[in-house]
Amino acid sequence: MLITQTTNNLNSLQLYNFAGGVGLLPESVIREAQQAVLNIPDCQISALVVNHRSQLCRDILDETEQNLRTLLSIPENYHVLFLQGGASLQFAMMPMNLCTKKNNAVDYMTTGYWSNKAVKEAEILSKNVNIIWSGKDQHFTRMPNASEYQINPDAAYVHYCSCETVEGLQFTGYPDTGKVPLLCDMSSEFLTKPFDINNYGLVYAHAQKNIGAAGVTIVIIRDDLLQDIPHDVPEILDYRSHVKMGSIYNTPPIFAIYIVLLVTRWLLNDMGGLHNMNVQNQAKAALLYQAIDDSEDFYHGHAHKNSRSIINVVFSLPSSDLEKQFIKEAETLGMIGLDGHRSLGGIRASLYNPMPIEGSLKLQKFMQDFQIRNQ
Ligand code: PMP
Repeated sequence: MLITQTTNNLNSLQLYNFAGGVGLLPESVIREAQQAVLNIPDCQISALVVNHRSQLCRDILDETEQNLRTLLSIPENYHVLFLQGGASLQFAMMPMNLCTKKNNAVDYMTTGYWSNKAVKEAEILSKNVNIIWSGKDQHFTRMPNASEYQINPDAAYVHYCSCETVEGLQFTGYPDTGKVPLLCDMSSEFLTKPFDINNYGLVYAHAQKNIGAAGVTIVIIRDDLLQDIPHDVPEILDYRSHVKMGSIYNTPPIFAIYIVLLVTRWLLNDMGGLHNMNVQNQAKAALLYQAIDDSEDFYHGHAHKNSRSIINVVFSLPSSDLEKQFIKEAETLGMIGLDGHRSLGGIRASLYNPMPIEGSLKLQKFMQDFQIRNQ
């Protein structure tokens, strides 16, 4: 309600939405989705009412999976699953399924708000959660270097979050864990750049940042990890049930999956793949970090320079009153969703895939102008 009052009744496609929790969709995808609510092209059925046992549902799942395999070169020994319950359910499913060593030893990195939540869930299921690195004492301002943590060779897995949405931190590479399977929460950065799935045992990402609408979570799991899943895991929470049934163990959120299909087509056909997407994302983030760096600490970047996220740019102003004014003025100019996460405050500009470079440019100019007027 507030948004429509302050932005002169612009519609959602005319606004630059920098919100961090739920991201963006390309305009073409929104228009195709609008069409599919009435009728999936050539199918005479609404995407809202596709039966999960129908061939059409299978076709939608298969093409979406194939597009993901093409975009990320996912080999056959990995399963691609479409699950529900968000990234948060994965915090619980991972230890339930994969905490399989005799002593229940698992390694976790705590690099921010979300990886810390994953630790809390694991601690319910295992008395042997080893925090191999924590950024808590440094207020989660940076990611670790490889020399700062040691992997327990007997751990069942190592878990980390590649991109901390709240604090705006991102790994540049990945932690090399040798033979110990590496598990990763990629919710904020999945499909924003290429990565090599062969370095991972399991990767998961909810759809609502870069790949679709809330309701579906993508899990990519290496086949050998299914072997040791304990037999007392409830079927619905057992990865094997979903592998066996090709993601229709129970009724899948087919409309949400249909949106992922449209987004993966857009990435393949319109964007020309993840390398191109990454080049654009880097350019968008560079504009905002330039405004921060040129501001002589009027804008204070939360992350250390070598841990800066290209997806979530987090910074603060000299006072919370100025931050409120910044957010309000930006809204009147059609830039919304800039308030920081409730746990941290400040400003967060999220630059998910569909944010055009014009959005970053407009925000950069506004930051420069706001500083001149309020310094
Ligand atoms: N991990 C990350 C990195 C997130 O940003 C979020 C939410 N924004 C979550 C996990 C939790 O996701 P969900 O709400 O889908 O459970």
